[in-house]
Amino acid sequence: MCMNIPNNTKYIQVAVPVPVRRTFDYIGPKSCPIGGRVKVPFGKRKLIGITVSTNPPQGGRKLKSVDKIIDEANLFGPPVFELLTWAARYYHHPIGEVLHAAQPTEIRKGKPLLDPDIEPKTTGDNNSTSDENHGNNNGIKLTKQQRAAVVAIDNSAGRFGSFLLHGITGSGKTEIYLECAKRCIAVGRQAMILVPEISLTPQLISQVTARLGNQVSVLHSNISAKQRYIAWHRARAGTADAILGTRSAIFTPMKSPGLIVVDEEHDMSYKQQDGFRYHARDLAIKRASLEQVPVILGSATPSLETCNNARRKKHQLIRLKQRVGDAKLPRITFIDSKQHQLTAGLTAPLIHAIGQRLISREQSIVFINRRGFAPIAHCQLCGWQVICGRCAARMTYHKRRERFQCHHCAATRIFHPNCKQCGEKLLLLGVGTQRIEKYLQQKFPTARIARLDRDQVRTQKKLEYELHAIKTGATDIIIGTQLITKGHDFSRVTLVGVVDCDQGLYGVDFRSPEYLFQQLTQVSGRAGRTHRPGMVLVQTAHPDNPVLQAMQAHDFSGFAKACLAVRRAANYPPFSYIVLWRAESTDQTAALKFLTTVKHIGNKLRDKFDLSTVQIMDAVISPMEKLAGRYRAQLLVRSPNRRQLHKLMDNWIAQVEPG
Ligand code: ADP
Ligand code: ZN
Ligand code: ZN
Repeated sequence: MCMNIPNNTKYIQVAVPVPVRRTFDYIGPKSCPIGGRVKVPFGKRKLIGITVSTNPPQGGRKLKSVDKIIDEANLFGPPVFELLTWAARYYHHPIGEVLHAAQPTEIRKGKPLLDPDIEPKTTGDNNSTSDENHGNNNGIKLTKQQRAAVVAIDNSAGRFGSFLLHGITGSGKTEIYLECAKRCIAVGRQAMILVPEISLTPQLISQVTARLGNQVSVLHSNISAKQRYIAWHRARAGTADAILGTRSAIFTPMKSPGLIVVDEEHDMSYKQQDGFRYHARDLAIKRASLEQVPVILGSATPSLETCNNARRKKHQLIRLKQRVGDAKLPRITFIDSKQHQLTAGLTAPLIHAIGQRLISREQSIVFINRRGFAPIAHCQLCGWQVICGRCAARMTYHKRRERFQCHHCAATRIFHPNCKQCGEKLLLLGVGTQRIEKYLQQKFPTARIARLDRDQVRTQKKLEYELHAIKTGATDIIIGTQLITKGHDFSRVTLVGVVDCDQGLYGVDFRSPEYLFQQLTQVSGRAGRTHRPGMVLVQTAHPDNPVLQAMQAHDFSGFAKACLAVRRAANYPPFSYIVLWRAESTDQTAALKFLTTVKHIGNKLRDKFDLSTVQIMDAVISPMEKLAGRYRAQLLVRSPNRRQLHKLMDNWIAQVEPG
């Protein structure tokens, strides 16, 4: 696995964690393995970097020597190392930072690699004979459609194949992942299961360990650096049978990989939005092809990119059209909010339906994607509003803490009931979770109400506690934001009320309709998961909207088809590839000015290299003009031809970036 440099050269190129798009030459001892860590002098500092190549140096400068070789082998293993160098090029991000991002903190700091032979065992749970552990099926016998899916995927074992497992909510996708993983482990290979940030709960972890045995490495943002270090090693050494993790777990090395699963592949949390930006789902596909293993993308509402790839036969499509057992998809009804009076944002039919559930001792979910009490504090007399001083955004009134809070930068201000400009009493408009909670508590005084939003549920523990209360029936009404939409298997919920979906209908993002459909499907999917039928009531001022109509008919395919047609006509992904330049500055005009200059440079390069498929838009002020004290601008670039776009970007970035 370790690739030594040829005997006759002593030069190595090292990627260090600095934001420059190049490597640095050093004189190294003969045994510097590619992909291994070295400590090198860098200016006045010492940095830990990764050896990426062993070529003769360019130019005749005097080179410094490596201080210390830390690893005798490639940290990542050749396939992941190749994945990372590919990602640095593909996402146009400095290689040093990419390699840095892929390491656990303790490894970044220079801690030694643990010897696989003296690998720490997990907490004494390993004394069973490591196959009856794997045999536990929880008494579940796969349905015919589940078995067919497992067989199709298992046929691809030992080679690359990508599968879109498109199954409605509650159709038993998780069982399919677990069965495929079990088969993979049974032949001595490792399975990696990626899940969205929000769904990696202790319940899921125990479900997975109950089924796959104790040798599961769990990787997410809430574990300690030490835990991550050990989990990473166990995956790398092959002692972990399964790796369960969120986005960044995709970089975890595996000694003998056999399967990669991306659950809820459409989920936005797979996209890293700052620093080294990447999409873990796309990297999972790339990795599966480098490792020659099958990859499963599972979702009830696959992203349009993935749908399109399935249509083009890049993925094999497996459909699950029925829920397990007698469970039926819930009936969706729209309540025209224009025709009803709203009390705390709720219409009479929705309030009535909640009351009915209390009588029949069933649970209701009231879904609203806005926390706080009221999102708008407005003066009727002079029009003044409470605006964040650092962002171009209104502040939300939070009743518990008697404060205004900015949901973009978290700045807070003490609540004052009067207009700052004219002294008139402020009106608190709009609805958030707190206002609904207060109203429903008054309306149904004996109901046990849980509010699940980021203010109320700050820790994983608290989330667990609340989810447990819901499962055991200790809660009657659940008011929640997207925290409650995903994955949870609540058997007693028979009503889901969606307070307001209209914000999502007319968003600025070209993906808004897609996100809305996903979100509504996810939240609706919480209702009627057993024999008790589920009902979904959606309040909207636009019940005739085509997205909502498709949603009502549970017609994802029709929706996807219509949406793809719009994307094609407007030249949006997946029919084009997009690059977004972003600039920000404390100076109000500097960001826009800068990007206007960038645009001119881009135009010249496009002409010079004859990259006629690339379209460079105008630099514009970002939809959110100011965030946390900085003014923002952006510049969109797109092309149906990925090669041309990359060629332009390579040259463009080189010209724009200093040094
Ligand atoms: P999805 O991931 O598609 O939403 P799940 O895998 O969570 O669906 O399955 C929904 C419910 O059905 C779960 O409670 C699960 O335990 C149960 N289930 C799945 N497959 C079977 C089966 N073959 N027999 C009985 N119950 C099953
Ligand atoms: Zn006023
Ligand atoms: Zn703010």
